[in-house]
Amino acid sequence: MKHINIAIDGPSGAGKSTLARLLAQELQFIYVDTGAMYRAVGLYMARAGLKNHDVEGIVRLLPCVRIELRYENGMQEIFLNGENVSRAIRTEEASRWASDVSAIPQVRAFLLDAQRDMAKKGNVIMDGRDIGTVVLPEADVKIFLTASSEDRARRRYEELREKGEDVVYEDVLRHLLDRDAQDSGRKTAPLRAADDAILMNTTGNTLEQSLGALRAVIKEKTKHVV
Ligand code: C5P
Repeated sequence: MKHINIAIDGPSGAGKSTLARLLAQELQFIYVDTGAMYRAVGLYMARAGLKNHDVEGIVRLLPCVRIELRYENGMQEIFLNGENVSRAIRTEEASRWASDVSAIPQVRAFLLDAQRDMAKKGNVIMDGRDIGTVVLPEADVKIFLTASSEDRARRRYEELREKGEDVVYEDVLRHLLDRDAQDSGRKTAPLRAADDAILMNTTGNTLEQSLGALRAVIKEKTKHVV
């Protein structure tokens, strides 16, 4: 039986992971957060004491990294060499590390097969930056989500504050713009919408509004498959 693959790409803070997670629960699909995988690689390298510009060192240590996604009560938990790092990867420092390691072609190649394998195993909603363009170019539905940088930074700021991180809105905005520029400007698999992606701008939307819009697109696009 053919599995349904839904690709959701877009810059940080556009609401991809929240929306993808909720829709996956609703549709009983597996949710794959590929950003978490880059974050886990970054965390490993930071803990190993490397500098983020030490490409050679990062590539050398890659074979020591084992990443597993496990699902507990429908929630994705990510394990790095057996340790649950689902919380540890959510800091601002881990975000910067993820963006840095994700620009290295060998790191992308290292994660690509695992991501494609997951899409073969069942119906998935996968979110990231290059899912519609590189990881799953044949996805049944491709959505490119975006929102104004202020909206995205505000969401990210609130998320971090809720987790108890002592951050300032202006810093969050600046880091987000840096990360966007780095993700869009890199040579390998840059952040961009696939030619056949549906563009959705969530600026000013409530969660319910964005969820409703996404649900409608997915229903329409998969009606011949399900
Ligand atoms: O989505 P999230 O913000 O957790 O991703 C962290 C970083 O991982 C991004 O800034 C991006 O550099 C990188 N990433 C990527 N390709 C993906 C998913 C994430 O390059 N498919």
